[in-house]
Amino acid sequence: MNQKALFIIFGGTGDLAYRKLYPALFNLYEKGYLKEDFAVIGTARRPWSNDHYHEVVMSAIEDAGRDSGRTNDDLPRKFANHFYYQSHNVDDVDHYVALRKLADELDEKYQLEGNRIFYLAMAPRFFGTIAGHLKDQQLLTDGDGFNRLIIEKPFGRDYPSAKELNDSISGSFKEEQIFRIDHYLGKEPIQSIAGLRFGNALFNSLWNKEHIDNIQITLAESLGVEERAGYYETAGAMRDMVQNHIMQIVSLLTMERPDVFDPSHLREKKIEAVENIQMYSKEEVDQNFVRGQYGEDEFKTQLAYRDEEGTDDNSQIETFVAGKLITHNPSLDGVPIYIRTGKRLTKKSTQVNIVFKNNDKNIFSDNPDEKLETNVLTMHIEPDQGFTLEFNTKTGNQGYKLSPVHLRYRKTAAEKARIPDAYEGLIRDALAGDKTNFAHWHEVAQAWKIMDVVRNTWDAETPDFPNYVSGSMGPQAADDLLTRDGREWVFNPRK
Ligand code: NAP
Repeated sequence: MNQKALFIIFGGTGDLAYRKLYPALFNLYEKGYLKEDFAVIGTARRPWSNDHYHEVVMSAIEDAGRDSGRTNDDLPRKFANHFYYQSHNVDDVDHYVALRKLADELDEKYQLEGNRIFYLAMAPRFFGTIAGHLKDQQLLTDGDGFNRLIIEKPFGRDYPSAKELNDSISGSFKEEQIFRIDHYLGKEPIQSIAGLRFGNALFNSLWNKEHIDNIQITLAESLGVEERAGYYETAGAMRDMVQNHIMQIVSLLTMERPDVFDPSHLREKKIEAVENIQMYSKEEVDQNFVRGQYGEDEFKTQLAYRDEEGTDDNSQIETFVAGKLITHNPSLDGVPIYIRTGKRLTKKSTQVNIVFKNNDKNIFSDNPDEKLETNVLTMHIEPDQGFTLEFNTKTGNQGYKLSPVHLRYRKTAAEKARIPDAYEGLIRDALAGDKTNFAHWHEVAQAWKIMDVVRNTWDAETPDFPNYVSGSMGPQAADDLLTRDGREWVFNPRK
């Protein structure tokens, strides 16, 4: 369905707007989800003209490679004509007066019925100021139109700062008007988790503590910090990947089945799931969490993290985290969830492994100690997308011996190319008012509380970094975490 709205993008000259937002909006326009009744105001301090802004928007579309194969070459220009640039310093009240005037004019011109989406593509320290001025200067429409706020991570550095940030916007926008982007929730393989679990009697009936032994989540990167050292030195792997993306995946994997698959039921179950993750004491953090920082590779061809441009020579920032979480959600009560993320690991892969229990007696062997291979369901999230199911079968031998086989489903390159980019899907959802794939404040808050205990424990001690070789799968302690429990990581590209 076509949606009419005025987008006001704060940070319209920035990287996020250029690389993600303009191409995503263009795709929605090309597919007819945005028709002619929409307008975009881009704001930032730079004194750009509308004409220059149109050129920037068209070049963003071209750079994103979205124009290949298009039959209508005029489309990017037609699209860019809906864009208006307003030079604006977010601290200056007068600028909001001018912004309101332009917004009202465009509302009238395009018949937008007061529907407004405010996209804060700017550093979070500006969120409170912008939200306050939007309300005070009456940029929020009253009447039947909607007012929605889209914000980007990071949502704070810890629970207190996240709460402060949330309080600073919640005076102007209610929770149902706030769309917190965690772009992992915009990825189709992540959205598929609920479908796989609740749309298949096979998995639905097995998704419980009687049948699942443990769950493993790996977000492995083969690259180092690259040009993000400035940001990474203040964040580290815990804040960059665990508190947000991994915790969202944890809640999708452990939540109870909602009665109805709609945003409010789903949100309720996801909040419950994250609230049912066991909070650790400091001693338990030491036992259950491992941090690491990469050193050189074994041939000394890659730099250690501390030698990368822009990092501190004595940096104590972690580039690797592994941990064991325990869920107390009723169906999976007590099931361990092993999580792992890091830079400069052996191979890039994001995947989830569901390891099933393997307690049955092996009736196919004379040796009572000979175990059958464990059944594992792997969800491949990136770069591969699809599933693998490992199970045992008779494989053409004499007698009756079982061997493991892999049942694989992988999306083809053509199928992957048809999947909308995460931002396209998320902006479309925000336009439709669908909050299924956005993070609720209670989820964000609880994830911080769980991670703060780990962070505070770590910050009280000096780590012995670097402690893993580039190209490995992280520190030995990350393997020991599972060995101690009589388990091992399923994803092990070094094997
Ligand atoms: P960026 O390239 O540095 O852009 C910042 C924008 O803010 C620029 O348009 C800048 O324009 C504007 N700005 C700064 N101070 C201003 C002021 N006082 N008044 C008005 N405008 C001001 O940053 P970004 O990479 O786009 O990131 C924006 C936010 O998204 C950050 O919070 C980031 O963490 C988050 N994020 C970014 C990405 C990404 O892929 N880039 C991904 C996920 C999350 P002027 O200099 O012209 O004022």
